[in-house]
Amino acid sequence: MTNPTYRRILLKLSGEVLMGEQGFGIDPATVASMAAEVKAAKETGLEICLVIGGGNIFRGMAGAAKGMDRAQADYMGMLATVMNALAMQNALEQIGVHTRVQSAVQMDQVCEPVIRRRAERHLEKGRVVIFAAGVGSPYFTTDSGAALRAAEMKCDALFKGTSVDGVYDSDPKTNASAKRYDVVSYDTVLADNLKVMDASAIALCRDSNIPIIVFNIREPGNLARVLAGEGTSTLVGN
Ligand code: UDP
Repeated sequence: MTNPTYRRILLKLSGEVLMGEQGFGIDPATVASMAAEVKAAKETGLEICLVIGGGNIFRGMAGAAKGMDRAQADYMGMLATVMNALAMQNALEQIGVHTRVQSAVQMDQVCEPVIRRRAERHLEKGRVVIFAAGVGSPYFTTDSGAALRAAEMKCDALFKGTSVDGVYDSDPKTNASAKRYDVVSYDTVLADNLKVMDASAIALCRDSNIPIIVFNIREPGNLARVLAGEGTSTLVGN
């Protein structure tokens, strides 16, 4: 991978990265450190779209596994992503980064609805746009929401910040000899069912030709390093 120059990126953070060591919910100190990463990236002149999951609060599948109606549980999951978006907005604005939250589930009192052209204008004005509530429909995930927003906002790449430093051929937490890919194709990810993002998100990125960069967001300074083509990550592309 050569040093790519990005103009606009979408950064996807799973909800879990906001809970820090506490195992559930939102840890303000962790949100603040994530906001600092975003600010540092933004100061390089990048336009940044942000999508945050909701797994630190509620996942529809977990509710369904305990007998809830899946769609009802998924709506709860979407609301969880709005809470995370508001927490991140707060943390970013406290350090002087201007933001707007746009939710795929309309919530006039707390944020804007998703309006692509308005989001475009926010980015031009130097604001970070945080897209909440995924695609706005049950049976989807925020990974699909991230892929969708990356495509419609014409992002140059989707950066997926996780707690591992890339994509492995098997789970590095349970298999000590798991190998990390530097580069892997969308088709291999899909065929081998590699744990990157769900299949619909991968397919959408493939069809829109959006590279996915998987990296460890928990390591301080890593987003800026990976953006500069340094640091450890996996590039998912064609
Ligand atoms: N969700 C949904 N539709 C969407 C996005 C999210 O129904 O378009 C729900 C779904 O229940 C999901 C939850 O919101 O489990 C939280 O999102 P996700 O699991 O993607 O969060 P992450 O794993 O990234 O923290």
